[in-house]
Amino acid sequence: MGKMTTKHKQKIGDKMDRALYVGRFQPYHLGHHEVIKKIAKEVDELIVGIGSAQKSHTVSDPFTGGERVMMVSRSLVELDITYYVIPMADVDRHAIWVSHIQSLTPPFNVVYSNNPLVIGLFSETKIETRRSPLFKRSIYSGTEIRRRMINDEKWEDLVPKAVAEVINEIDGVNRIKNLSSNDTLF
Ligand code: NAD
Repeated sequence: MGKMTTKHKQKIGDKMDRALYVGRFQPYHLGHHEVIKKIAKEVDELIVGIGSAQKSHTVSDPFTGGERVMMVSRSLVELDITYYVIPMADVDRHAIWVSHIQSLTPPFNVVYSNNPLVIGLFSETKIETRRSPLFKRSIYSGTEIRRRMINDEKWEDLVPKAVAEVINEIDGVNRIKNLSSNDTLF
């Protein structure tokens, strides 16, 4: 039998699993997308948190929160899951970050991450954490994709088609090239 639908579960009063997956997604790439495909098979609903939403226009964080919302939302259309994409600005005290996240999102009962700080902060709460697997980490990497953009190398095959379209729409490659001529950090 296939996965019970959210509607069906609510109808019979069963417990729903709603997961959170947080990332900077500078940009959202196929490694993130593989993780989300796996999560979609395991839970009923997914919240994708766009981390460091206040950051943009630097070589390491070139895209705005809103641009990253577009990248993720458009990529997830092809998946069979209900999802919410929510920008979340950083806060200057890690001790209150989990409650900050909870104040911005629908309730959730499980967090998927590979980031030790994210896992550590959520582990101190009652929320379950699950380690997400890494896929082709050497190339499915925001740093590698940004490096390729700056150096006129092929990057489009490392991101979902919808992300390449958003980056082209906002002229993102020229943005990052301009930023890199002023800023050598990435
Ligand atoms: P990221 O975009 O680098 O990665 C997101 C997730 O994808 C991570 O779990 C990472 O391990 C995973 N990933 C990366 N490459 C992958 C691949 N090839 N295959 C599979 N998975 C892959 O983002 P991040 O740095 O983990 O984002 C955490 C966010 O949370 C940041 O924005 C950070 O600022 C924020 N945060 C904020 C606070 C605070 O405000 N106090 C505290 C903790 C975290």
